[in-house]
This record gives sequence, structure tokens and C-alpha cells, in this order.
Amino acid sequence: MTRFIELAELFEELEKITSHKEIVRKIAEFFRGLDGNEVKDSAYLFLGSIGPAFVNTTLGIKDRLAVRAIAAAYEVSEDEVKRRYARTGDLGDVVFEISKKREASLSIEEVFQRLGQIKEASGKGSQEGKTWLLSDILQKATPEEGKYIVRLVLGRLRLGFGDQFLLEAFSIAFTGDKKHAGKIKESYSVCTDIGELAKALAEHGTRAPGIFSIKPGIPVKSMLAQRVESFEELEARIQGKKAAEEKYDGERIQIHKKGDEIKGFSRRLEDITAQYPDVIEAVRKSVLADQIVLDGEIVAYVELEKDGNRIEEFYPFQKLMQRRRKYEIEKYREKCPVAVFFFDILYLNGESLLKKPYPERRSLLETHVVVRGIVHIARRTVTESIGEIEEFFDETVEKGLEGIVVKSMGDDSYYEAGKRSWLWFKWKQEYSEGMRETFDLVVVGSYYGRGRRKGSFGALLCAVLNEEEQRFETLTKVGTGFTEINAVEINNLLSTHVVSEIPKNVSIKKGMMPDIFIEPAIVIEVLGSEITNSPGHTAGEGEEGTGLALRFPRFLRIRYDRAPYDATTVKEIRYLKNGA
Ligand code: AMP
Repeated sequence: MTRFIELAELFEELEKITSHKEIVRKIAEFFRGLDGNEVKDSAYLFLGSIGPAFVNTTLGIKDRLAVRAIAAAYEVSEDEVKRRYARTGDLGDVVFEISKKREASLSIEEVFQRLGQIKEASGKGSQEGKTWLLSDILQKATPEEGKYIVRLVLGRLRLGFGDQFLLEAFSIAFTGDKKHAGKIKESYSVCTDIGELAKALAEHGTRAPGIFSIKPGIPVKSMLAQRVESFEELEARIQGKKAAEEKYDGERIQIHKKGDEIKGFSRRLEDITAQYPDVIEAVRKSVLADQIVLDGEIVAYVELEKDGNRIEEFYPFQKLMQRRRKYEIEKYREKCPVAVFFFDILYLNGESLLKKPYPERRSLLETHVVVRGIVHIARRTVTESIGEIEEFFDETVEKGLEGIVVKSMGDDSYYEAGKRSWLWFKWKQEYSEGMRETFDLVVVGSYYGRGRRKGSFGALLCAVLNEEEQRFETLTKVGTGFTEINAVEINNLLSTHVVSEIPKNVSIKKGMMPDIFIEPAIVIEVLGSEITNSPGHTAGEGEEGTGLALRFPRFLRIRYDRAPYDATTVKEIRYLKNGA
């Protein structure tokens, strides 16, 4: 039985370490001493959660309840807790200050179970129940333990690293060598439950990755498309026959059907079943296979009859975002009708299709999905001719769609989970308008606004992901393109992610320091024209000391469907600047 204090002390140490290698080494060392279940629980805890992304792990305790629980645990007034909170800005620090020294006695398992009980407390009296459960465990905790228990409960652990660090640590801890990290990362794209993966590795070592295959009910990471510079490049990249599919601008959904149970997962692997009852009902009618996993896109869409003709209307992504809600789902189902366009099938009745070529998957998709009502299959053209693809693109854009995705039909055209693959290429309308590109950037800071924008932000400091370092490096300052509505929404979002110092996984040049630091959490899509060298930014800086910058950036939209680690990478922008 491992004591929780050991984990709490490690958290404390990790907060101070900046070296990637050192963090991974420390975590690996810690994992080595644990049994399988402890490994599983701690893997979630390191990421500030009590389960994988695809199950709801919200504990349901906000500041107000936490203040109450802390006051009760340490027999001080709520006002006293609030005063200290106002000063420190962190309820974990408050607990550390006011709790008394005691012998550490809690185990990792006990703390983990208690967090689970807090989450489970529901219904009438649940607030009192949750408060009591928290206050009770705080009474048994040392100051260090209490600090981290409170941060975990509030979902504010913020150790400054993501799942990739853990995967590297698993490799060292359970296989004795970091060289298996690549294989483990690949397994994680298919077995996205980090706790289960950790436990299997702890118990079976290197033999474990092979046992992971897609299972209905557990989402796999989405396959993504590369960008190309021109139709000529497309021709060079995919020789011979290729398929150009319409590109729908909505929300990615992975549908999992297991008998009667149907679930939908987002690109962030979150369970979005409840948001789309209409899609789930329609899939129930159109998809009869007992066990199946489908990949597709939900779009805001209506089909009308006009003078005997069928007219389709595709609405922009912004409209679909009205469906991102927990309440009034039925009302918005009417207000914002949607359709789903399936473009892939990943699993069928016990068999993984990830290693089947795309033409075979497409034909299975057509066999097992009946097109009716709001269920569609992505429309496409199959051809060798780039001219025909260009024509298809023009027609697609005319219909109001955003572009096309061109897919390889080769023998090796597998479903590459979690990869921006060289088997799929996107071509969007913006590209044809003079090399303008869109980027998914992470907000890492904001500057005060002046004049008309006083009281709001003036510009956002935005970053790309350096995959090797798992660090966010700044690329540009975005100050245009915001409507007033956007600005209000962004201000609200920013306020929940303000941090007092530069997060460990963010790199900013001295001359670029924002007025407010924002932890990497918000992803925005930005249109820009050109990548240039820039001494002011850290993107791709490496040893040369000169980073890359995006010129003439313009805000397009907030990407709630993207997590910071899904952002555009340094590698991608380097490629855009220099070509392949
Ligand atoms: P982007 O978001 O610009 O990187 O484009 C990739 C996204 O396009 C995917 O993640 C899907 O959500 C979406 N998409 C829409 N239609 C298709 C399609 N026919 N094939 C693949 N992806 C598609």
C-alpha cells in the first residue's frame, strides 16, 4: 500500500522542475514502486483527473462548496477562508496554511476512492454530502496532502505537463528503457484510457502494447489530414487513383454501437452522446450491425423541398456550437437541426478495421450504414485526374462547404489513429485565395485593450505546440477579427484560465510578455498569410535563437472541440515555411 503523501510530495517537487527529462525520470521512479491498481489511479491523478477523458469525471465541487468544506474541516469561519483565498488565489495554498501538521496516514487508494465518492454523491442533499466527504478527508490529511486534495477536487492540479510525459515514464518504468515510448504512444492512440494502459504495462511489460486493440465503448484518437500547398503537390503525394471527399465543417464524432448502447465521442474523446439525441436516434435506425465504430462529422444542416427539388443547406460551424450545451437540448435540437456524414468505419462485429485499406473500409461503410433521414455518407469522387478533383472542389465550395479531403486508395491506406497522416490531405477554400492558411493556436496570454476595447483584451498571444518538447511556443499576437460577441465570450474564457506566472510548458520571449498569463487551455482558429523568421517569438526557435512568426493573423473562431495538445505544431509551420 503506497501512501498518498509520497504522491503529494512528488507533485510538489514536479511543480519546481522544468526539465522534461527530469520530470519523466521522477515519475518513472515513482511508478516503479507501485502495484497495478495504484499505477492506474496515480496515472489519472497526475493528469488531475479520476478517470479517462471519455467518462465524466467532474466532481461537482466549485469554490463555494470547497470554502465551506475547508472551514468545517479546520474549524475556522468561511470568511477567514475567503480572505486567505483572496490573498493567495489558490484554495490548496489556503489549506496548506491553516491545516495542522500530522502523521501521514492516507493511502493513494483511499484518496482516489474518496474523490470517486465525491463525484458519485448526487440528488437531494448531495451538496452537503460532497462537502462532508471533502471536509472529512481533509481532517485526516497532512498540510501537503490537503493542498493537493483540494486542487484535485477543484480540477486545478496544473502540474504543467500532459499525457505524453506519462507515456514516456511508463516506458522507462515498465520496460526498463525509453525506447518503447513510441510503441506505447501508438497503443495509447487506440487504448485512450491512460489508467488501463498503465496498469496493463505495469503487469505485462513490453508484451502489453500488443494486447490493445480497438474496443467498442472506448474511443480511439482521430486520424487527421495534412495540408498541401497546391493541387500539383496533391498529385505528387498520392499517385494513381484517389478519392476526394467533401469536407464538412462541423464537429467530429466517433459513434460506438455495442448492442443497444450507442455513444458518440468528440475529437477530444469526450462523451457527447447527450448533446445529440437526434443523431443517436437516427443511427439506431440506420446502422443495424451489433457492434460497430464509425467516424464522421456532424454539421448544422437542413434539407428543403423547393419546387419539387431537394435543396441542401450547410450552416457554418458557429451555428452548430449552439448545440454545445447541457440544458435545453430539446429546444436547440429544433433550433439547430443537424445531419451526420460518416466517412469511415473502424470496427465491425469483433474485428478491428484499422489495418484494412480505405477502399475496403469505404465499401463496408456503404454496406452497414443505410443513408436515410439525417444519416449520410460523405460524398466523394474517385479519380486519377487532378483536373477532376479541382472540379469536384469547385462544386463543393459552391454548395457552401469548406473544401475537400483527398484520400489515398493504396494498399497501405490504413486508419492511422492519432496521426496527421500522409494518406489524407485537406484542401480548403482559403488556400485557393492566395496562400492563406488557418491555424489552431493556443492562447497563452492577453494584453490589455485600449480605446474602444478598454476593459477587454486588446490582443491575444498565441502559441503552437512543440511536440518533441511538449511545450507551447509563441507564434503570433492576434488583435483583429473579433466581433463584440466573440470578445465577451473570450473574456469569460480567459478569466477562468488566468495564472500568476508563465506556465512551465509555455515559452515566451522577454519582449513579448503579455499583461496576463493564460494557462494553455483555449484553442482558437486563426487565419494568417505568411510564416516569417522572427526574433520576437519562440516557435521552433531551437538553438538558432530565431523563432517563426505568423504575419497578418486574424481571429476566426474559438475551437471548443480542440484541446491544446491538438493545436498546430512547430513541425507543421516549419513545413509551411520551407516546404517538405
Ligand atoms: P481541419 O480541422 O482543418 O484540420 O480538418 C480536418 C477535419 O475535417 C477532421 O478532423 C474532420 O473533423 C473534418 N472532416 C470533414 N469532412 C471530412 C472527411 N470527409 N474526411 C475526413 N475528415 C473530415
